[in-house]
Amino acid sequence: MTYNLMRRAFRWLTNLFTRQPPVYRTAFMEELPERLDKHLIYILGEGEYTWSAEMLCPCGCGEVLHMSLHPDGRPRWELTRHPDGTVSLSPSVWRKVGCRSHFFLERGRVRWCK
Ligand SMILES: [Zn+2]
Repeated sequence: MTYNLMRRAFRWLTNLFTRQPPVYRTAFMEELPERLDKHLIYILGEGEYTWSAEMLCPCGCGEVLHMSLHPDGRPRWELTRHPDGTVSLSPSVWRKVGCRSHFFLERGRVRWCK
């Protein structure tokens, strides 16, 4: 009993210190739904052809970020799909207005730039 309790407390502490940022899962679709899930990055396209990536700003401001993947888009982003189902975007996403969030999306994880 006591041992179990200690083990639970220990696991809780470990989680606290090694907490990972949430991983964005990837949703492929043709049109953006009305309400966005804050743990999803939406890749809009048809089949192999993708034209944009959309996600709620990870800072929590509620803005929807649009990243054009279209070859003619300016600016445009490069989308990399990984075998584990996550995606990376390059270059970084930098909002020039509002919250001015600046981050990299790497394998579904947000890495903030300072
Ligand atoms: Zn924001």
